[in-house]
Amino acid sequence: MSTAPAVLPVATPLPRPKLVVWFLITIITIHLLALTAFLPYTFVWWGIPVILVGNFIFGSLGINLGYHRMLTHKAATFPTFLERLWVLCGVCSLEGSPLWWVCVHRIHHQHSDETGDPHSPRESFFWGHMQWIYTADPRQRSLSTFEKYIPDLMTDPFLRWLHRGNKWILVYVVHALLIAAIGFGLGFLIEDTTEAAVQLGVQIFVWAVLVRTVYVWHITWLVNSAAHRWGYRPYQTNDRSRNNAVVALLTNGEGWHNNHHATPRACSQGHRWWEIDLTYTFVRMLQVVGLSWDVVPVKVPKHIAEKKEEETKKEGETRGQGDKETASKAGTS
Ligand SMILES: [Zn+2]
Ligand SMILES: [Zn+2]
Repeated sequence: MSTAPAVLPVATPLPRPKLVVWFLITIITIHLLALTAFLPYTFVWWGIPVILVGNFIFGSLGINLGYHRMLTHKAATFPTFLERLWVLCGVCSLEGSPLWWVCVHRIHHQHSDETGDPHSPRESFFWGHMQWIYTADPRQRSLSTFEKYIPDLMTDPFLRWLHRGNKWILVYVVHALLIAAIGFGLGFLIEDTTEAAVQLGVQIFVWAVLVRTVYVWHITWLVNSAAHRWGYRPYQTNDRSRNNAVVALLTNGEGWHNNHHATPRACSQGHRWWEIDLTYTFVRMLQVVGLSWDVVPVKVPKHIAEKKEEETKKEGETRGQGDKETASKAGTS
């Protein structure tokens, strides 16, 4: 005779995602320190152009060009010294080691907005924007994942050096100290009193390092969050990527994200004349003077281009049908 179990089995709870505590603390600390930019002692209007120039150097040349288009998608080739420079600029944006970043981004392209996407905003806007970055995903860090997604980069001694022992963080700290030193040096050159010189040094450090880091973080993260939620879709790709003009403007071109998902290898992410992509303009300038080559052109795969035509036709037909119905209603009323 069977008897009912005295205690009903309890469903195993899903494992709670583990926080990468040190990175979360770093993010919070840098955000809080960046807020000091609004104190009367540190607030300066020239801080705004400093952020924009800093974004072009570290965000556009470092992340867009170096980490993304060059390392991840092989969209263009540069002399070794420039390739190293773009990578170092990317490192100074404090978004992870180039090996890890490229690995995560290639996983994103393979599983965009479906199970396995490291940062789809389908979970929530906040997850896609920044929560994922301080949440541990052991799969992203295992050797087998690296071997699967970035075998081409794992043999690069420079990239390996940056990754091992988190030396990319050391590079970020050194660049921050260097900018602080330049700031104080300029202060003592320009200002007459020690107080004014120190103040200028602090202002340069706060705006060129802290505020710029936070700014580049958020606009890069907007590509993963906003440009997978809001905007138009000229291509019917198998994901939720969108062309978001605001994100494109802020990031100097990365916001034309639906274009990018349709043609990931293309160096230019703007496909129409008005889709301005300053990162690509910079590559073209380098190409003209012989400092860039093998620039991959925009070539939309046939199946996506055809799908687009079908969708456009369908849209036209639906609109035509709607117009006819409206006309007949108007005629009968
Ligand atoms: Zn995407
Ligand atoms: Zn990409």
